[in-house]
Amino acid sequence: MRRVIAVANQKGGVAKTTTVASLGVALAELGRRVLLVDLDPQACLTFSLGLDPESLDLSVHDVLLGRVSASVAIASTADGPALLPSTIDLAGAEAMLLPRTGREYVLRTALEEVADSYDEILLDCAPSLGVLTINALTAADEVLIPLQCETLSHRGVGQLLDTIVDVQRLTNRGLRVRGVLPTLYDGRTNHARSVVADVASRYELPMLEPPIPKSIRFAEAPAAGRSVLVTASRAPGAEAYREHARQLLETSNEVAPPASVAVDETVDLTADDRPSRRRVSA
Ligand code: ADP
Ligand code: MG
Repeated sequence: MRRVIAVANQKGGVAKTTTVASLGVALAELGRRVLLVDLDPQACLTFSLGLDPESLDLSVHDVLLGRVSASVAIASTADGPALLPSTIDLAGAEAMLLPRTGREYVLRTALEEVADSYDEILLDCAPSLGVLTINALTAADEVLIPLQCETLSHRGVGQLLDTIVDVQRLTNRGLRVRGVLPTLYDGRTNHARSVVADVASRYELPMLEPPIPKSIRFAEAPAAGRSVLVTASRAPGAEAYREHARQLLETSNEVAPPASVAVDETVDLTADDRPSRRRVSA
């Protein structure tokens, strides 16, 4: 069964890219066929998995513009997952997509071609709510929201949820919010804990456990072009991502999200009214 998960938050530096890379490697360790898609022109995911964005001939940019099919642009990485890489060219993609008919569906259509080759597809979104992020949410079955446990980090979550509701209404009725993943978590402080509690109650979103601990190991890994699961395999942060990968495998497309917290009524999290077109494209 193929599943597409968008990792989104328009705030930068909340560990979207780290989450995509780490969860991707953890899922590959569990034997899943994993494809990661870099949707950020800054190409941090591409770089952190050991590819040099500047020496790539083809990237997700060429795929979105219809120049090549996704399978042609997908590269392999040392740590297991396949990668549809990004380059700075992607910065121009928003403008080129804007006037096009069906611009929200371009990524979803492109991924349909390779859907049978992968079990899990993770989308690393740029820190914006532009056309590329809308494409990711439209292509996804679930959205995962990393949240840095700092003062005011909840700001922007409401706006992201508004965007998700729009996508559910207009381009992807089946989209579900998997939950909020607390990142850069310093469990020694009451502050981090209260930020998590505040967001959970304010938006009534599922809060995923365990939080990802703050660790210098995460800052070191990308420079080596390897995942923290490889460079610091037994570190608590690596083990936390492995736990999330295991939880992902326990849930399939057909079951409700792990909602230990009451569900926000403004966000449609029900799985049973998903239209059949999602199944057709799966
Ligand atoms: P985003 O993609 O949301 O902008 P990144 O994944 O690039 O965020 O992370 C931002 C920075 O924080 C990077 O330098 C990354 O190495 C670092 N980082 C991510 N997760 C952790 C963590 N658990 N502990 C410490 N540093 C982290
Ligand atoms: Mg990023």
